[in-house]
Amino acid sequence: MAIVAGRPVVDLPAALHGHFGHTSFRPGQEDLVRAVLDGRDVLAVMPTGSGKSLGFQLPALLLPGTTLVVSPLISLMKDQVDELNRRGIRAAAIHSMIASDARRETLSSARRGEIRLLYVAPERFASDHFVRVLRDLPVARFVVDEAHCVSEWGHDFRPDYRRLKTAAAECRRSDGQPGRPPVAGFTATATPEVRDDIVDLLGLAEPQVVVAGFDRPNIDLRVRPVAGELEKQRLLAGLVGDRRALVYAATRRNAETAAETLQSAGLAAAAYHAGLADAERTRVQDGFASGSLRVVCATNAFGMGIDRPDVESVIHFDIPGSLEAYYQEIGRAGRDGRPAIATLLWNYADVKTREFLIDRGREDLPGRPSVPLDPAEVARRKEIEHKKLRRMVAYADSAGCLRATILRYFGDPAAREPCGACGNCERRVPLDDAGCLLVRKILSGIARAGERYGRRRIAAMLVGNVDDLPEPLTRLSTTGLLRDENPRTIERWIDAASAAGLIRVSDDQYRTLSLTPLGRNVMAGRVTDDVRMAVPVTRQPLSVRRASRRRPGARWRAV
Ligand code: ADP
Ligand code: ZN
Repeated sequence: MAIVAGRPVVDLPAALHGHFGHTSFRPGQEDLVRAVLDGRDVLAVMPTGSGKSLGFQLPALLLPGTTLVVSPLISLMKDQVDELNRRGIRAAAIHSMIASDARRETLSSARRGEIRLLYVAPERFASDHFVRVLRDLPVARFVVDEAHCVSEWGHDFRPDYRRLKTAAAECRRSDGQPGRPPVAGFTATATPEVRDDIVDLLGLAEPQVVVAGFDRPNIDLRVRPVAGELEKQRLLAGLVGDRRALVYAATRRNAETAAETLQSAGLAAAAYHAGLADAERTRVQDGFASGSLRVVCATNAFGMGIDRPDVESVIHFDIPGSLEAYYQEIGRAGRDGRPAIATLLWNYADVKTREFLIDRGREDLPGRPSVPLDPAEVARRKEIEHKKLRRMVAYADSAGCLRATILRYFGDPAAREPCGACGNCERRVPLDDAGCLLVRKILSGIARAGERYGRRRIAAMLVGNVDDLPEPLTRLSTTGLLRDENPRTIERWIDAASAAGLIRVSDDQYRTLSLTPLGRNVMAGRVTDDVRMAVPVTRQPLSVRRASRRRPGARWRAV
């Protein structure tokens, strides 16, 4: 190991191979290891299964002293300790299932510097005695695994996690420097609220944030707009085909409808939700695990236990409540790295169901205890859930790259547009004359309105819905220019045009629209060919809309 400017320069790939036998780092892992080695506080956000643990395990082997790892689940600790020991790495755990003699023994050997990684259950820090003992232990890094447990926004709030900030402050650094050892929080939950809580409640000081590994390039992302329940049922069997599939529904009844639909198409499908008898749930889980049952139609009660790597398709029969939930559910596809498809059946009417579920405030989880909460807290949580739902709706409505939309939401720097493997990237086609004309009218509307308004107002102005508009918008030459269109359709075209680089959306809260240089050229008719765009799929065609006005069920592709 060479030393440059007082800091050891480690050949990390060699260390990775030497200690863990892996031939290369996964995306983000090396940056994470370097961040932890660097000695700053770190917040690491990576999905489950992406290899987060290596981010503290490898540094623990390269740094003097013991690395403390706080972990909320005894089984998780046991798995990691066993695995490390199997690789000849000295690791141990301290939790309630370990006898007190053995705990004392472990702490003594840690103090003698014989243990690289010491896993500790969070409730240990409630003991003053334990915290006193820790003061004698040279600590390399104070690692908090599943760090979202500190936040009430997450689903696994652990009050014991609130002690960790103080506990870390009591620890002695193994490098002899003053102050507490660097603290590193690890989580798979990437929402801004949870992240802020982690930084705040664990007391991370200007942490280096590492977000990585969210991209699942082998999953093709698709959104399929539908007009209603019947259309979903008509499409479902075809979407499943002969694939091994999970179908997620918002309600028990919809899960059953989906299963019945597939059964009547001759597919081996079953419903799964918390309303079923235990025996039936077990039968479905076992059937899916063994492969005899190819399709399960489930509420969010189905998931964690299922680890078939070869799920080829995940279909959402109804919009899920958040992008986190969506990404976790579709993440069950293609674990084997083979191509898989995630399809969201998108009907705006389903948002109502989700809103109802949020306001009712209950999840379809078996045996979940209901903890009484104060009303202000309940209201606060509901508001967050509604916000998350809006982000999910924005995804379903997005005309831009679906993968980039998700990755940006998680803050993953891998977001690159276009990805080439999502419905919207695949649908980027050259605009035909009718589409081009429509887009030019929209661009003119934005220009005439002075590039000072957002999507909703511009769309309302163009279709001539002037009732709630600011006065200047009611008398433009473009007011009512697209009188026969639906404002939602126009909004989607605006999204498509902004994804295609014709319109810029301000990133402040007002989201005002303005034209890009390309947009100006298209508006003026200087650029006509080579405008490629994910043409919105609407329920009625622009050109035949008038004729089919009274046929609410008609579905066509625009232009
Ligand atoms: P997480 O903590 O993110 O849920 P783990 O750290 O448990 O995930 O890692 C998941 C699996 O990936 C483990 O079996 C681990 O050995 C493996 N793994 C981690 N990093 C690598 C790598 N660079 N190359 C190959 N396998 C790896
Ligand atoms: Zn894409």
